[in-house]
Amino acid sequence: MNTSFEVHGRSLIAGQMASPNEATVTRAFHGFNPVDGSALPPAFYPAHAADVDAAVLAAVAAAPVYGVLSGRARGQFLRRIADGIDAAAGCLIEHAHAETALPRPRLTGEVARTSGQLRHFADVVEEGSWVMARIDTGNPDRTPPKPDVRSMLRPLGPVAVFGASNFPLAFSVCGGDTASALAAGNPVIVKAHPAHPATSEVAGRIVAEAVEACGLPSGVFSLLFDDGHEVGSALVTHPEICAVGFTGSLRGGKALMDLAAKRPRPIPVYAEMGSVNPVFILPGALADRAEQLATGLHGSFTLGGGQFCTKPGLVFAPAGASSAFAERLQQLTNAGPAFSLLTSGIAAVYEKSVAARGHLQTAAGATAGSGWGAKTVLLETTFAGLAAEPALAEEVFGPTTLLVHAHGKAEMLQAARALEGHLTATILGTEADLVEYEDLLLVLESKVGRLIFNAFPTGVEVCHAMVHGGPFPATSDGRSTSVGSQAIFRFARPVAYQGLPQSVLPEALRDDNPLGLLRLWNGAWNSTRTNKL
Ligand code: NAP
Repeated sequence: MNTSFEVHGRSLIAGQMASPNEATVTRAFHGFNPVDGSALPPAFYPAHAADVDAAVLAAVAAAPVYGVLSGRARGQFLRRIADGIDAAAGCLIEHAHAETALPRPRLTGEVARTSGQLRHFADVVEEGSWVMARIDTGNPDRTPPKPDVRSMLRPLGPVAVFGASNFPLAFSVCGGDTASALAAGNPVIVKAHPAHPATSEVAGRIVAEAVEACGLPSGVFSLLFDDGHEVGSALVTHPEICAVGFTGSLRGGKALMDLAAKRPRPIPVYAEMGSVNPVFILPGALADRAEQLATGLHGSFTLGGGQFCTKPGLVFAPAGASSAFAERLQQLTNAGPAFSLLTSGIAAVYEKSVAARGHLQTAAGATAGSGWGAKTVLLETTFAGLAAEPALAEEVFGPTTLLVHAHGKAEMLQAARALEGHLTATILGTEADLVEYEDLLLVLESKVGRLIFNAFPTGVEVCHAMVHGGPFPATSDGRSTSVGSQAIFRFARPVAYQGLPQSVLPEALRDDNPLGLLRLWNGAWNSTRTNKL
């Protein structure tokens, strides 16, 4: 297994390196070092329309073969990618560090998360019950006769995935969207994020190698480069693409949702977009541990330079009682280092957004030097101030948060009711606080995908119960999650088979349950081969 890869700056179409054409050869782009803004070698050539078409057609050809592969074989493939990532960890980390300025220890953790989530999906497909087999046996003696109906989840077909800028590994080329779409049995075409092209190419080569090593059709995976929107738009509007996975801005996600909806055959777009992740600090917790809460919150909103979709960007605390907490938060912010942000665009939007909120600034960290640096900024206002300027509740990507001093439970509740959809909401409180604020919990539950008690929202465990989603605008479809094994359901659809003979039914639906799956047999869940409880 390769531990290192040479980077060529070319898209990978069904295992083959693409060549630039006359139009794209002049549009070469580079990754950049965020610390000093210098361009990094090599040059990357954007894919062109024929590349998009070739990648999609190869995926179409691969889909029927890959879609019926056994869970065991699909699991082996996912494990092979995971092993490839672990083997090339050093190479991936060095490229990602150069292209994103994220610290090596954080990237080391991200490698483990990336290979770990691939193995997590391998476990799921090898066990197999995720296909949700349901069997209602027929009864010819009933009037009218009852048909034999059996259903299970099947793959959708070729899926387009857009890598995120802020997780160059775990939400990028072989991140959660790719892992879950492949696990469900779909070929994947990734549009690489232009902020980390070399990291993307190495990750793409690892997947392509695994495709070859497992003897799969080469069209199971392709990787396309572009530093504009042409390739992404062409992918989403390609008639043979069946679904889209995206992590990024609300603007980008909404643009792709609109493109997908306008197609002659609309397709689902699973977009994980912005979130402010409101935090509610309740009186009991503030009285007990103001200092600890301030330290925890500061660590959370500055983690990764504040470039997490789960960054707590809006914090409500009881007015009056919150002064010691606010003072400590100001001290920590003033003492904080400068950060290098991921891209010049993210740094420019951050600077503009923080400047527009300058009248609320109560503390700021070290001033950034060269490159795409940013200083940490603490903003403070009152509930009335927020109500007068609702735009303050919008996401600012980077190391800043807005502390809102709210008077009493009534203002906290009003603030919660006014929230849009978010990925998370956090309550920092005592059990007595929870009893008193029970109605706050109910309001928040309707607004978010994950409700957190006495912890901070940054850090999303990859597990079976995780929900990393939430109502629009946090995501395009609040019924889904992009992290954890339930993410697989985004890329599958139920198909019912009526009256088919045993010999042609998928194994998952045969009477003798050869795969030993947990199935709903005439209304009762069981996993026995005789289907008797
Ligand atoms: P982005 O601008 O949304 O871009 C994400 C990906 O989508 C990129 O590959 C981008 O291509 C593509 N894209 C964007 N708009 C498109 C369009 N109209 N048509 C086709 N493709 C399109 O996100 P970003 O560059 O990572 O960061 C910008 C902002 O996104 C941040 O300031 C932050 O607010 C947000 N963000 C959110 C998350 C999250 O976890 N939810 C993660 C990262 C960033 P190009 O780069 O070539 O334009």
